Amino acid sequence: MRFDEMPYQRVTYEEAEAAYQALFQSLQAASCEADCLAVLKEHDRLTEMLTPIDLCYVRHGMNVNDPFYAGEQAYYDEIGPRLGELQNRFYRLLAESPFSAFFEKTVGAFAFRLILSGLEGYDSSIIPLQQEENALLSRYNQLVSNARADYRGERVSRSSLTRDQQSADRKVRKEAYHAAIASWEEQRGELEEIYDSLVKNRARQAELMGFPSFVELSYLRMNRIGYAPEDVRCFREQVKAYLVPVAASLNERRRKRLGLDRLYSYDGGVFFPEGNPTPLGDEAFCLDMTRRMFADISPETGKYIDFMLDRGLYDVAMRDGKQSGGYCTQFEAYRTPFIFANFDGTSENAYIMSHEGGHGFYFYLKRNEEIRERGWYTPEMAETHAMAMEFFAAPHMELFFGSRGEDYRAMHLEKAVSLILYECQQDEFQQLIYEQPGLTRQQRNDVWARLEQDYFPFREYTEDERKQFGSRWQRIPHLFLWPFYAIDYALAQVCALQFAKRMSEDREQAWQSYLAFCHACGNHSFPEALDTAGLENPFAPDSLGNLMNWLQTRL
Ligand SMILES: [Zn+2]
Repeated sequence: MRFDEMPYQRVTYEEAEAAYQALFQSLQAASCEADCLAVLKEHDRLTEMLTPIDLCYVRHGMNVNDPFYAGEQAYYDEIGPRLGELQNRFYRLLAESPFSAFFEKTVGAFAFRLILSGLEGYDSSIIPLQQEENALLSRYNQLVSNARADYRGERVSRSSLTRDQQSADRKVRKEAYHAAIASWEEQRGELEEIYDSLVKNRARQAELMGFPSFVELSYLRMNRIGYAPEDVRCFREQVKAYLVPVAASLNERRRKRLGLDRLYSYDGGVFFPEGNPTPLGDEAFCLDMTRRMFADISPETGKYIDFMLDRGLYDVAMRDGKQSGGYCTQFEAYRTPFIFANFDGTSENAYIMSHEGGHGFYFYLKRNEEIRERGWYTPEMAETHAMAMEFFAAPHMELFFGSRGEDYRAMHLEKAVSLILYECQQDEFQQLIYEQPGLTRQQRNDVWARLEQDYFPFREYTEDERKQFGSRWQRIPHLFLWPFYAIDYALAQVCALQFAKRMSEDREQAWQSYLAFCHACGNHSFPEALDTAGLENPFAPDSLGNLMNWLQTRL
């Protein structure tokens, strides 16, 4: 079904509750394995019944000022935690059922572990806190989606400044950059207040559930299976040791290429003296090239992209009042992925289609999975699907950029390295913040400023930037919306680089190992799935050192 034909009707709490009650009864009455299988199917139908909630999220994001979907979203924010409780009760009954061994065998050991860790990370006593958290997140979305900036005598949307921030003309990018940060400064008080409330809310959730801090609770919620906070800490230390020097030399390479004495933050978006490569056409052109790109990558991705584009399963135009950023989600009732993006006419248009396309491709691969739980995944897996796809897409960038395809690839690789540092910085920041929820706003900014020195010691700041560089974390939506969803990108990027290394040795074999990785997800933990695809575990000592040695030979 096409996206615009997908009907929307509110699913009420009462309807959902009645369906859950019937499901609980079926589960408790199950007396043989066939009954249990029927219970799983009934649960699938219930999940499909909740699809309007996902449709509403997307349509609300397409225009946060549309009063209808804003109202619907407020309703789901309110009932969401109570629905979560019903869902949890189902899993508790399933885990405690006399047929739990059968359920484990059917959904697979990995999904069953996810169910158990979900139970451990949940308690009905925190529902009021979760409702309050949802309301804070809606307030955050509203604030950021409607952000304006003063630019050249006009009040423009802040997101529209991205293009000029990448201008080859240093004066233009400096002006656009300063307009953007002035706009962030305008919202600083409110952003700090929302974040403070979020941190305290989440700390309280952890406390009520008996965890030492929100860090431990979030490890359960993020389903970090097969590694612990200590592994992540070691990984971050490896990143500091091996990646900071590589990133510093890449920064120096960019400075020379740009012919500048010093690189300041306002130069951060620019990689070439003539400017970054930009797509050679408009939205329709980019979608066309996306189709050709995925057709060129492999027969599997070719079928996938036809499926997506022929059904209009995307919204990529940038508009006032549209939620910023991009993501991929899915509509379970129709077994379709959906891609949300904001085409701004920069190289991001191509980037986002390759990244979100990787997420969409995974959903597509698993869409006919009989046992839906066998399509489950954890965040580092999902980002590996997406970031590795960026590298499989890279050789086809001439489609978007003509003769500047090679420039895109150089820029993409440079960004990939600094992204690992940036995500580790965010991870360490969050760990420190949630371990000490009582820090003042100023102390939080000081933590960020200190980490900035650890991860980006080579960066230069103007006096103006120095004054507020401790508040730069406020520009990162993930810190508000998806706490601790940062290290996943760093781990995934390391794996994506391993795929890039393999591609340089044997393209076809690399693609087959990517498919093997995707198929293994849903049935294995992240470290196990990497093993299946013959990839190195990023936590293994030396794995980063080896990878950086290879990278140096490519630069
Ligand atoms: Zn992603």
